[in-house]
Amino acid sequence: MSLVLTDGERRLANELLGRFMDGYERDLADRPIVPEVDRDTLRGLLDEPFPAQGVGVEGFFRDLDERILPNSTTVSHPRFLAYVLGPPHGIGAHAEAVAATLNQNCNFWQLSPAASVIERRVLDWFAGLLGFDTSRSAGILTAGGSIATLDALTTALHDRRPHFREQGLQAGGPPLVVYTSAEAHRCVDKAAGILGLGLDNVVRIPTDGNQRMRVDLLAEAVRADRAAGREPFCVVATSGTVTTGAVDPIAEIADLAGAENLWLHVDGAYGALFVLAERAASRFAAVRRADPVALDPHKLLFAPLESGCLLVKDGEKLRRTYAYSSSYLTVQEDPLMRDYMDYGPQLSRNFKALKIWAALRTFGTDAFRSALGEMLDLSTYMGERIEREPSLRLMAPVTLTAVCVQVPGLSHDGHTALLARLAAEGTALLGPAVVDGGSGMRACITNHRTTRSDIDAIVDRLVELAEVPAEVVGPTV
Ligand SMILES: *Cc1c(COP(=O)(O)O)cnc(C)c1O
Repeated sequence: MSLVLTDGERRLANELLGRFMDGYERDLADRPIVPEVDRDTLRGLLDEPFPAQGVGVEGFFRDLDERILPNSTTVSHPRFLAYVLGPPHGIGAHAEAVAATLNQNCNFWQLSPAASVIERRVLDWFAGLLGFDTSRSAGILTAGGSIATLDALTTALHDRRPHFREQGLQAGGPPLVVYTSAEAHRCVDKAAGILGLGLDNVVRIPTDGNQRMRVDLLAEAVRADRAAGREPFCVVATSGTVTTGAVDPIAEIADLAGAENLWLHVDGAYGALFVLAERAASRFAAVRRADPVALDPHKLLFAPLESGCLLVKDGEKLRRTYAYSSSYLTVQEDPLMRDYMDYGPQLSRNFKALKIWAALRTFGTDAFRSALGEMLDLSTYMGERIEREPSLRLMAPVTLTAVCVQVPGLSHDGHTALLARLAAEGTALLGPAVVDGGSGMRACITNHRTTRSDIDAIVDRLVELAEVPAEVVGPTV
């Protein structure tokens, strides 16, 4: 079989793709949120050798319908509320298909002139939203928030140790210390581990009663480390923690970072794009004081996976970290374009900006503002409903869209069993949550398809299950 489809095969593939996408959309709410995994099918997918003679276009779409789709999670279901993950926006699949068709390599601009400008347009829009000066800032779209934070700490390290590129951490000097809160995402640990900073040099600062970093304790830790001969160099604040959506006191942390000469990285992967929602915007005003910020358009902008984003206020520092002159790529500078290979670790890169740009063009920015506002409203509503139910307990204030709920008296295992039951019966997929050491469940409404009746259905069912005998959902403490 030729690797180029014939006209007939291409028509067939287009038709089958269209049919697949239409069917998926039509049946979405009726699909199981969590698939009943067919182990035999998965075993077959794992073991079967690839055919020497292909199964053809129809065969591929048959695989999709019969083997892949039935064993896939329905992330777009309106009651999929686990993790921080939402359904893709309506033009996402088309934009991805176009990106694959054009197959631009977004490394240096000659290979991808329009893509280079579109990526920069998207990055400048993000920078503008956060209050960065776009004539100085620079950034790059990444595979996600974790990579953006890794790139941010890499940049901080290069800035702090001017010979880092040549000597790495081998040159010695006092140990560099990174500070973050007890509620921060594990990507901070991962970045410190990968970069050779060592987890022993990541200090987790305790949080206050609302899961926000205690700035007084941060100041104390920095002082104590200096006194002990260590070198405080970076603090990672979170604007929207994964568990409860808490926003660290960024302005106070920025004051301290300024006084102590620390880089301030803000992990905004979950929360910072809520700056788009009018009622939440003021809470993110201080993010403009960060050095780098990590965002996740594949969360709150509903871009299909993967797309994260790193913005660095002093863009030249990002470029100095990642630009390596290379002999075989003779690139001519053009002030209109950027060579994104100079702003991150990758050389070959796909056209991630298209799916973000396509949605902003197609739907307009107001569509996102109102979707995010709606999700905030729904979350507040869910929190209020839970507070009115005597058999349920709201575990933390609803700051953004994470709603943590507990059945008082139910053990950790009991909550796990309750989550499994909600998923198995098709009510909803929620996630586990631990708040202040107590076990519970978490609904994270980063789903633009969720409605008030979905929330009512979930809370009603939780109330019913909270009242059934212990053996149905598991042992109580
Ligand atoms: C999701 C998330 C991350 C990790 O982002 P990925 O895109 O999954 O790599 C980091 N921090 C926070 C606060 C998050 O919500």
